[in-house]
Amino acid sequence: MRYELMLPNQIRTAIEERWPVVLPLGVLEYHGEHMAVGMDTLAVVRMLELVEAEMNIVILPPFYYGAASYAVAGPEGSGTVQVGGNVLAPFGEALFHGLLRIGFRNIHAIIHHQTENFAAGMPTDLAFKAAGRQAIFRMLEEKSGEGWWGDDAMASYYSEHGEGRNPFNWIQVHPLMSPEILAEYPFDHAGQGETSLMLALCPEAVDMARLAENKGWYTATAKDASAELGARGRDLILARLLTLLKQD
Ligand SMILES: [Zn+2]
Repeated sequence: MRYELMLPNQIRTAIEERWPVVLPLGVLEYHGEHMAVGMDTLAVVRMLELVEAEMNIVILPPFYYGAASYAVAGPEGSGTVQVGGNVLAPFGEALFHGLLRIGFRNIHAIIHHQTENFAAGMPTDLAFKAAGRQAIFRMLEEKSGEGWWGDDAMASYYSEHGEGRNPFNWIQVHPLMSPEILAEYPFDHAGQGETSLMLALCPEAVDMARLAENKGWYTATAKDASAELGARGRDLILARLLTLLKQD
């Protein structure tokens, strides 16, 4: 369900049944002359709509204002919006803390932007990962007091992790495409992979007639894009998201 459409009784059901609460996390960034600036975030939103058809999840309003960076193009006339990770972190902490206060304990953010080396991280995902950790510590200290971890009642802390009670799983940040998917599907910026994915998920965000106006090297492969290839990527991502979000 879309969070903004939920009634309080539905929210309470989602809390009790531990529905995954998912934040589409992304940026607004220049993706060549042939594709919309919201591509990275739109891909997450559209994929989550497909997940929602298969299982109970809460889709939060997407957050588009991540750290796009000016690596691809400067902002003038390109449409790229850059908000630095140092600004995002306190926002993310406040958002996650607010979601924990509501009662959610199965929160996920999913991002597609700059995720090819996700373990090392990039500004947007690092900011939201740190934000999640900070929000969890804050919540634990508010609920259980300072010294919560050192208390005798916590002696079984690590064995309870095996039973799925690790509080640091309350908030997780994931890339849209896992390394397994990247091995099977082209990862690029505004090239064949992303253009195909948009043709399959959100064709209104692509205008193939404008391909010839592109100047960037990274768009050279976009001419080989197809909705069929995008559909293969979509199916790989859908299977992986269903497994990921059903885990808990
Ligand atoms: Zn992209």
